[in-house]
Amino acid sequence: MEGVGREIRLVARPRGFPDEELFEVAETPISTPAEGQVLIRNSYFSVDPYMRPRMNDVRSYVAPFTLGEAMTGGAVGRVAASRNSRYAEGEWVLHQLGWREWALSDGAALRRLDPTVAPISTALGVLGMPGLTAWYGLFVLGEPKEGETVFVSGAAGAVGSAVGQMARIAGCRVIGSAGTSEKVAWLDELGFDASFDYSETSPRHALAELAPDGIDLYFDNVGGDHLEAAIGALRNHGRVVACGSISRYNDAEPAPGPRNMFLVVTKRLRIQGYIISDHFDRFGEFVQQAAGWVREGRLQYRETIVEGIENAPKAFLGLLRGENIGKMLVKVGPDE
Ligand code: NDP
Repeated sequence: MEGVGREIRLVARPRGFPDEELFEVAETPISTPAEGQVLIRNSYFSVDPYMRPRMNDVRSYVAPFTLGEAMTGGAVGRVAASRNSRYAEGEWVLHQLGWREWALSDGAALRRLDPTVAPISTALGVLGMPGLTAWYGLFVLGEPKEGETVFVSGAAGAVGSAVGQMARIAGCRVIGSAGTSEKVAWLDELGFDASFDYSETSPRHALAELAPDGIDLYFDNVGGDHLEAAIGALRNHGRVVACGSISRYNDAEPAPGPRNMFLVVTKRLRIQGYIISDHFDRFGEFVQQAAGWVREGRLQYRETIVEGIENAPKAFLGLLRGENIGKMLVKVGPDE
């Protein structure tokens, strides 16, 4: 294989909200696979909120991104050339080599995709890591029961939109919050029982109005004022699934936590955090169930697709600003 491909590298670390100057588009030769290797022509890669904390030079549950190297993360593409007996040219695969047009893999961390089950882009969204995050967090940690009231923040995003619909499947009454009226209109289409635009109404006021008798379960994608409002609205023995805190990811200094934490004691609440990569062993069970729901139209999804690798930084910053409805993806090559 000859020619050059492009990749996006992180070249500086942000303080506060990141900007496009932190990224560079670099050209690299397209490599010919050596024995055991697979060359992949990428179709889509994912931009995800967890990438923001990884830009800081702080070791968390994963190592920070390395300056001067391509951003890593979920991507799907087609095998263009293979010297690995397990993958044939033309097969679709998922990998973690991230923000590039071409990827060279040793085959170890690849997953084969079946494009007849659903469009391959769904392997990065509703039938991929975000879908599993929703399913595991809601069903395994949240333990929703029929008739309960579930509140989910970030409800028009990849994880949140799946959580809300899955909670409906579990027979719960579902309330969602999102940052624009267009997103709230989509939540209505998805069958959420109630939803609100937090740029118009504070979560505390909205929950007082929409759930006057309180909530049983809060699925937290946002943290901050949403978490504080949810703690205030939870009934005794209520549960919080702590999935993410996107309202805090761009803070240069950690903000004080919810002011009402004593209610966790008095209401006997349970707050459970998790990192989905600890639970990839549940993927098969999840995808079988979720693919069925997608086929039946009970689990709908949307994607916001930004075209062209040079626009990946814009897509990522747009995700942090809430410009996506459903899963935010970057399209960098043919998808059929
Ligand atoms: P989304 O598709 O939900 O995209 C991010 C959304 O966050 C934006 O669209 C925006 O929507 C919202 N947002 C941004 N800033 C704020 C803010 N200040 N306050 C409230 N909302 C804000 O992303 P994902 O579905 O991929 O991720 C959702 C959450 O789940 C994140 O917190 C992420 O870190 C977490 N996560 C956790 C995992 C785990 O293993 N624990 C795995 C995967 C994701 P809006 O317009 O509504 O503001």
